[in-house]
Amino acid sequence: MRKLISYRKEIIIGIIPVLLSFIIYMGFPVGILVMGAIMLGVLFMMSRRGGLAMGAAGKKVKARKPSYLTFDDIGGQENPKRELREALDFIVNQQKIQSLGIRPLKGILLTGPPGTGKTLLAKAAAQHTDSAFVAASGSEFVEMYVGVGAGRIRDLFKEARELAVKQKRNSAIIFIDEIDGIGGKRDGGQHREYDQTLNQLLTEMDGVQGDENVRVLLVAATNRKELLDPALLRPGRFDRHIQVDLPDKGGREAILRLHARNKPLHPDVSLVKVAEETFSFSGAQLESLMNEAAIYAMRDESEVLTAAHLTLAIDKVMMGERMDRETTREERERVAIHELGHAIMAESVRPGSVAQVSLTPRGQALGYVRHHPQQDQYLYTKTVLEEQIKIALGGAVAEELHYGGRSTGSRGDFEQATNIVRTLIESGMSDLGIIHPEALTQEQWSRENGVILDELIKQTRLLLGSHMNTFKQLLQLLISEETLSGDQLRTQMKRVAA
Ligand code: ATP
Repeated sequence: MRKLISYRKEIIIGIIPVLLSFIIYMGFPVGILVMGAIMLGVLFMMSRRGGLAMGAAGKKVKARKPSYLTFDDIGGQENPKRELREALDFIVNQQKIQSLGIRPLKGILLTGPPGTGKTLLAKAAAQHTDSAFVAASGSEFVEMYVGVGAGRIRDLFKEARELAVKQKRNSAIIFIDEIDGIGGKRDGGQHREYDQTLNQLLTEMDGVQGDENVRVLLVAATNRKELLDPALLRPGRFDRHIQVDLPDKGGREAILRLHARNKPLHPDVSLVKVAEETFSFSGAQLESLMNEAAIYAMRDESEVLTAAHLTLAIDKVMMGERMDRETTREERERVAIHELGHAIMAESVRPGSVAQVSLTPRGQALGYVRHHPQQDQYLYTKTVLEEQIKIALGGAVAEELHYGGRSTGSRGDFEQATNIVRTLIESGMSDLGIIHPEALTQEQWSRENGVILDELIKQTRLLLGSHMNTFKQLLQLLISEETLSGDQLRTQMKRVAA
């Protein structure tokens, strides 16, 4: 139905000549014919006007009132917030920039992973500058028919100006999420519709003048800046590029605090600890974590969110929903051996790092080991990367030691291990030395990959082989309890070693 509505213009254009031919064929008098044509014309004009209000070709490009969201409602992200505020001064201090002859800022590009708060920043920008706010997503402009996407871009700018006038504001912010949907590199001919949409966007941006009644600023977001057409990135178009990264520990804590504002917390909850345990979580994942913890509290008929609810929520966001999968005893034992392999290896190379070993199936995994990230880390040495590979290989090696062979349960681990090997090679830390990845043939890749993994499997086998007693002591406990804490694991490893 929606598709039908979006093609309304095309359908009407098609119907007019058919109807006229039919009328002539039936031999209607000329007067009625002219009247009919006029009525059809009016109908067409009305549909066009409706189409404009709704975005060309009937698809509604949503205009939203600026929601009352300020920069204080965005946790962490101090640098992007500062850079954005500075850029927005161009709108706020309009007179000053005119007196100095500075050309108006036309576009701000926010780049970064999903869920890091780019949309929130755009909304806060509208609030900060008291602008009308219109938002759309790149995918809304992608159409088969040449000119439809371009029409929608025209309408979006028009609508932003109209909304600002209606709301008695001097400026409008247009937010386009996933700009790569329309702003990708042009390929010179194959996709005319796509090229026209992008050209229209460039034309609209070029048309933005500083002395208009309503100043328009385009804020766009993308996770893939490298895909954007260079024409969009040149000065005078998207003048400012602001990187919005995953939050660091302090940022995560600030985001958790914001989303805990309306939730009663038990005194045993430490949001600092939760922030420590959620390395690489995005703002959206942290919001989801707090929400899931509240749902667990409701299931428990608890008045407050406890530390245990938050731990369950971290596992859920990290690993997916708990599954009620029936597994045989043999399967359960193999999964337990596999997970103990990861955990013992992790404790051996990074003592104190295991938070929990679990046999609870979640998402695709039949079991998992949760690690404490001790601190946020952005640079990795060769030793650290090799340790990560050995931890990933620990599961498969433990299965080999106990059963003489591997199972399909190691697929994900091998993918992780080979990805880290790739990082090692690309960072010039392999025996190949510093080399451009594109200069390597497929054969060289797989040979070096094999050499590195063979050596690390050998080391993992040696280490886990010396812990056969620990496996024996912990296996039954893990199977009966379903989870082992990091402390239980460490105590047992120490006892066996003594
Ligand atoms: P995408 O690239 O997928 O469009 P995005 O970067 O635009 O994502 P947002 O839509 O701004 O992300 O954020 C999604 C949700 O995550 C927000 O509604 C909010 O609940 C939460 N969130 C993300 N970042 C933050 C933050 N810094 N502070 C508070 N909440 C945040």
